[in-house]
Amino acid sequence: MTKLTDLTISDALDGLAAKKFSALELTDAHIAGMESARGLNAYITETPELARKQAQESDARRAAGNAGALDGIPLAIKDLYCTKGVRTTAASKILENFVPTYESTVSQKLLDAGSITLGKTNLDEFAMGSGGVTSAFGPAISPWSGADPVNAVRKLVPGGSSSGSSTAVAARIAMGATGTDTGGSIRQPASVTGTVGIKPTYGRCSRWGIIAFASSLDQAGPMTRSVEDSARMLQVMAGYDVKDSTSVDVDVPDYVAALGGSVKGMKIGLPREYRIDGINPETDALWQKGAQMLRDAGAEVIEISLPHTKYALPVYYIIAPAEASSNLARYDGVRFGLRVPGENLNDMYASTRFAGFGKEVRRRIMIGTYVLSSGYYDAFYRKAQRVRRLIRNDFDEAFKNCDAILTPAAPGTAFAIGEKQDDPLQMYLEDVFTVTLNLAGLPGICVPVGLAKNGLPMGLQLIGRAFDEAGLFTVASVLEKAAGFEGRPAFTA
Ligand code: GLN
Repeated sequence: MTKLTDLTISDALDGLAAKKFSALELTDAHIAGMESARGLNAYITETPELARKQAQESDARRAAGNAGALDGIPLAIKDLYCTKGVRTTAASKILENFVPTYESTVSQKLLDAGSITLGKTNLDEFAMGSGGVTSAFGPAISPWSGADPVNAVRKLVPGGSSSGSSTAVAARIAMGATGTDTGGSIRQPASVTGTVGIKPTYGRCSRWGIIAFASSLDQAGPMTRSVEDSARMLQVMAGYDVKDSTSVDVDVPDYVAALGGSVKGMKIGLPREYRIDGINPETDALWQKGAQMLRDAGAEVIEISLPHTKYALPVYYIIAPAEASSNLARYDGVRFGLRVPGENLNDMYASTRFAGFGKEVRRRIMIGTYVLSSGYYDAFYRKAQRVRRLIRNDFDEAFKNCDAILTPAAPGTAFAIGEKQDDPLQMYLEDVFTVTLNLAGLPGICVPVGLAKNGLPMGLQLIGRAFDEAGLFTVASVLEKAAGFEGRPAFTA
């Protein structure tokens, strides 16, 4: 029989329903795996006692015939989601000992569906990064680094910022995980770890109780080992929430029913501007291969234009830091977490924030404060907002002629921990294919499609119309099936 930790969420739900194993057995298998894989640093906080208690309750619910949509499924929660009574750090020293008294809406929905919480996963500090390396708790290590990842000569990043979530899912120490995506933090880690990740439309999931990075860009989403599993998780996570005024009150369709649909007659756009100078030839080849797969499945593939693409990264690195500088103003040593005493109030603020925030977070706060300051507001922030609108208009135009857009998800395969770290611009480039969607508010899914010559996974991104996650799942499952990706990290628990 397949190892319990190797099952997909869908298979595990079948197995639980058929009483082949219990939620407690499934949970214990994952807890044992987490112990053997601790060197990967995927979790900042493990919650094995809580998980076993939840598993026993799940088994009782199932025996009574009251099982929920994800009953008994062990999941990992990104440590940016506030979890009631469980430490929530945002991978920052400033929140090292923060224990929320409330549960985020999305993680509460997952609990209400019967899922089990294995723990809180590592991330870039406040979700700022693309490799997990800015975490105050040290980086997570990709299980693709080698059979013994911790002692590998070249330890690879699992992408970022949802680095612990991608690591946990790829290493089989969680059946699925939550991520957040402000500029690519679900899709880029999915791409470099051979997993599936979807960033839903802005407003599809509630942001309530998720520690804010850039409020007009942040979205919650699932990370899993199959498209169907992502559909199952998003089904539970999505929905309007009175506590988040930017969540949108529209129906959540049946995502699982959207799987197995056909792409016959659909038009798939390939944006000319994504063939960027110096693109990795293997990334380009994979992209063309993916297009051919959709063509073979009956779709018409056309070239489209998104002319403002080249402004996306610069615009993102004005808007995201601006919002971050405002959101992070609350960490002042008074209300949350760390306090470093000072001679007077201002001194205390400064000492606390200097000691509590890492270098990248401080860089973002400084950029954000600068672009919002009077005199520069018009030159930077206001202009960036205008260009943001043009980027959204590009997509609106494009979707008049096509049903979905296919692009690479990341520029290349995983890089090594230590690489790109001293060069923020290189690091920022990791999101060149993903940030546009956050600026436009559109949904995007990353599906693993192939292995590069170096043996590492690469994914492709599908972009959909606003609130058409169901359509994206249809195309994504066709692509997944055609690609038949069977890559597996050298290490699994
Ligand atoms: N890598 C991007 C950044 O550092 C995006 C991060 C994210 O999506 N949270 O801002």
